[in-house]
Amino acid sequence: STTQKPNRDPLNIITPANIDWQMDDTGNRVPVSGEFDDVYFSHADGLAESRHVFLAHNQLPERLATLGPKQCFTIAELGFGTGLNLLATWQLWRQLRDTHPQLASARLHFITTEKFPIPLVELTQILALWGQRAPELTELIAPLLAAYPPLIAGCHRLNFFADNLTVDMWFGDAAESLSKLASDQSTKPAPYVDAWFLDGFAPSCNSTLWADSIFAQIQRLSRPTTTAATYSCAGVVKRALKACGFQITKVKGFGRKREMLTAIMADAASLEDSTRDSGSIDNADRLPTHSVVIGAGVSGLLMAWALANRGIHVTLLDKSAPLAGASGNPRALLAPKMTPIHHVDEHLHTMGYLYSSRLYRQFNKSAEKQQLAPVIEPTGALDLLIKANIGPEQIADYPDDMATTLPSERAQNITGLKKQDLSENLYLPQSGLVNPQALKNIILTHPFICFQPLKVNRISESEHHVCIHGSDPDNSERSMTADNVVICAAFESHQLDQRIFDCRKIRGQLSWFTPTIEQLAKLPKIPLKYSGYCALFTAQTGDGQLNDIEECQPQFLLGASFIRNDTDTNIRREEHQISRDKLVTAIPEMASIIPTDVSVWQGRAGIRTQTPDYHPIVGPLIDSKRTWVMSAMGAKGYAIAPLCAEALTDMMLGTFTPLSTAMLARLSPHRTRLQTPLD
Ligand code: SAM
Repeated sequence: STTQKPNRDPLNIITPANIDWQMDDTGNRVPVSGEFDDVYFSHADGLAESRHVFLAHNQLPERLATLGPKQCFTIAELGFGTGLNLLATWQLWRQLRDTHPQLASARLHFITTEKFPIPLVELTQILALWGQRAPELTELIAPLLAAYPPLIAGCHRLNFFADNLTVDMWFGDAAESLSKLASDQSTKPAPYVDAWFLDGFAPSCNSTLWADSIFAQIQRLSRPTTTAATYSCAGVVKRALKACGFQITKVKGFGRKREMLTAIMADAASLEDSTRDSGSIDNADRLPTHSVVIGAGVSGLLMAWALANRGIHVTLLDKSAPLAGASGNPRALLAPKMTPIHHVDEHLHTMGYLYSSRLYRQFNKSAEKQQLAPVIEPTGALDLLIKANIGPEQIADYPDDMATTLPSERAQNITGLKKQDLSENLYLPQSGLVNPQALKNIILTHPFICFQPLKVNRISESEHHVCIHGSDPDNSERSMTADNVVICAAFESHQLDQRIFDCRKIRGQLSWFTPTIEQLAKLPKIPLKYSGYCALFTAQTGDGQLNDIEECQPQFLLGASFIRNDTDTNIRREEHQISRDKLVTAIPEMASIIPTDVSVWQGRAGIRTQTPDYHPIVGPLIDSKRTWVMSAMGAKGYAIAPLCAEALTDMMLGTFTPLSTAMLARLSPHRTRLQTPLD
């Protein structure tokens, strides 16, 4: 039966694991689950057990070694726990990639679920034990810990680009998380799991990971040749696996354990159906090798980046330069639109913000190596809760590393606003100021991304390719073919393909000025959000738009106006004034500090694109196999485009997306909410 309800906290607040440290036989401290009173890993040798049960008995050494170029192998795990299985798999994957050159473009996708994630502080202590016992894991522990997300329900995608490894950590009840994995068999190729790690605590301690609802999902997400392994030989496990269509075999267990189970999916129904375009590893020969992305704003750049990281050559086109449109402001504040925590797992803005924040910090590391400007300045930000859709009680539901309220005095100290009542505030530690030009510079260094200026006039699609027709900067006609195309042209997307909704066009002007030394001392020290936002930043060499200000001089920026149905991009003094008024209304002490003469201010205006339901447009176009769209990010491109680009790339390649089926439906270019005319 599939009717068993997942065991879900009604508030959707994640309960962190309660770690109970115990001594093992050899006097070593080992972590035990306080919830289930069971061990996370074998006290004897957890790493060897993980390799025996999950790696060897899913035949991973052989199966991974024989992946072809660009093939993706998907593992799904029930119970992330301490991450030991992930580390063991990752280490094997690295080793194989070192010795098998054809794996250079192959990819490993590790999907894991966890209802009671271990807090970072304790995970760090636990993994330090492995760092001592197994030096081969040491190099992997630091990047894993650096990427470990705040304990919030939903899917957290962690990309380890250098290793072609994607980890999707679904926090929440496993049955519910698995049910959200999109594997739509009407769109081909549909993704499947190649190997299952069934690593719940013993069925006697925890029945939820061995429930019918879990096995129903395992069946839905498996295909012939999918394997599963578990140390448990309990009758309930054997019966359930058989009922899903797995052939099970009892084999020798690890160490003193007599037996364990290994299984392979081969039920008759699935075998008959095996001619279908099946996911992960079979479709490599049908994978695209060349994509065209139209539009080089934040959506197009991130789309090109996501595709290039899957080994696809991307021609990125724009009628003018990259970042010439709305996303080319001197700085963008990366801050989430918050939501009460009970639907955070389905909240694109939160999950997108967390992904962006991780990605930009990763970019900072590459920027440092290449001596390029950092992509994000990790300032944190303070929201004064003037226009936030969340109040102090709802902020308290969040873990502090995502959102918290600072004590008033501390808020005054870190902002420098000593006269302001800051008793209510929302502090966002992962927030920061993004430097769009620095982001562009990093992305365009990817060897698979080639930018070309081209004004696209027409796209034609045939059985085997798309053809893009356009005109060069010198007005000569040009056309190019590719396997597919992604339209990321914001409000101009509709002109390129009438099937794309004709969105609202909203003018937004950002303003900035060079403060005097006296003003500088009194301006807010970290970015603030109110009905607008403001931030200090220091211009850097190569900042693009900042051509007439001196390098390395602090600037104070204020944003942004919001004018519907206006596509003019000239700078307007009255909109500088509007941004000034917003700040002074929110923080009266700024009235005497922000200059009243705005005539010398600089500004930049762009046109944002927005749908009536505020969701972006991400997905395939109807009746088309090769034309995709990612557009309408509104003013939130830096927060949501990176995750949307990951999801769209997964849809294009037939791998699992980090967004649920319901979310993909909400973003679909053909959702019903877009069928009603614009107001
Ligand atoms: N694979 C882990 C490792 O490498 O450390 C060990 C997993 S531990 C044996 C089992 C995990 O399942 C625990 O972390 C527990 O919190 C988690 N868990 C238990 N019930 C769950 C449920 N209903 N949904 C998701 N995770 C669950």
